[in-house]
Amino acid sequence: MSDQERTDELANRYGEALLPVFGTPQRVLARGEGVHVWDTDGKQYLDLLAGIAVNALGHAHPALLSAISKQAETLGHVSNFFASAPQIELAEKLLELSAAPAGSGVFFANSGTEANEAAFKIARRTGRPRILSLTDSFHGRTMGALALTSKEAYRTPFEPLPGGVEFVEAGDEQALAEALALGDVAAVFAEPIQGEAGVRALSHDYLRALRRLTREHGALLILDEVQTGIGRTGHWFAHQAVPDLQPDVMTLAKGLGGGFPIGAVVSFGTEVHDLLKPGQHGTTFGGNPVAAAAGLAVIGTILEDGLLTHVHDVGEELTRELLALGHPLIQEVRGSGLLLGIGLNAPIAPQLAAAALEAGFIVNAPNPSTLRLAPPLVITAAQLAAFTAALPALLEAAAPEGEN
Ligand SMILES: *Cc1c(COP(=O)(O)O)cnc(C)c1O
Repeated sequence: MSDQERTDELANRYGEALLPVFGTPQRVLARGEGVHVWDTDGKQYLDLLAGIAVNALGHAHPALLSAISKQAETLGHVSNFFASAPQIELAEKLLELSAAPAGSGVFFANSGTEANEAAFKIARRTGRPRILSLTDSFHGRTMGALALTSKEAYRTPFEPLPGGVEFVEAGDEQALAEALALGDVAAVFAEPIQGEAGVRALSHDYLRALRRLTREHGALLILDEVQTGIGRTGHWFAHQAVPDLQPDVMTLAKGLGGGFPIGAVVSFGTEVHDLLKPGQHGTTFGGNPVAAAAGLAVIGTILEDGLLTHVHDVGEELTRELLALGHPLIQEVRGSGLLLGIGLNAPIAPQLAAAALEAGFIVNAPNPSTLRLAPPLVITAAQLAAFTAALPALLEAAAPEGEN
């Protein structure tokens, strides 16, 4: 069988064997190393998406491989009837990196949606009935996380969703103040940078207003850092770009395990600590030693290799170079560190992503006019420059001159 025949055969079997929730996969991938992946035809791609902001250390990083395999050889799974050292160490590390005060604590889950589900339950336990979330938010696909997600197309087929969630306009301080003033708000959920909405950052002023107003009204500030956390923006957590901003709860997943599934909830301070009583929440896999070892390896490598500074520097350089193209279709570059959205002047992002894939670059289009880049944190400036150099031709392929 030729590579091409083998690929076609796998694509057919995918269609026969898997539920059609994701649409047709763009390629069947066979292996990855560093910032590159190869498909089953042997074609190489520069991975500028990293499994949607997940593969923080790229593919097959030796530190991650060694941590996972050593832990699996030693002790793989124990359930939460038992504790393990990696789980405790990772919880301590997250508390340290988030500068959490005494009385803070961590709950481990297996994904972003599960982390938000736990945060939702924490919010319910305040006894207050109302929860605020922002327009254009994305918090996951389970029923609770979906109730916090604004997109109608995701919500409508599954109604009724858990109740009590109201949406306020992202970035509108007045609307937030008015909604909180009506009283009985348990929590406000927000992403510091709305990734799925097209990499739209909340302003630092608005983040400060979120903190001030929630505190004034005794509501929790719950920051969803599932996409923005663990070094993605050049800070450990995106909210740390705002001096002294501390949420009450923060959710994490994606980059935390570097590709191994893990989610986490960090609760800040003593007041939140005991909202979930023993027995009120749980998980079989959450906090398993292998996932925790993966998280420790990711964090350890970010520290040892100075990746926060690196992400900041290469992110700024990439932004500068993209803008320096001066291309008429590029309106702006949004985001921070290595979570960037190229805002386009025409709704050609899907065609652009397809042209990029043909040319050997994996990127994605979270909406019709945004190209999202979320490469491994270890990517070099030279590797990023290869994409910038290719971009004008890709834009031409996506929107031939005169057609817009
Ligand atoms: C991806 C994402 C989620 C959902 O995470 P899953 O691991 O896919 O369940 C939640 N919130 C944000 C901000 C995300 O980017």
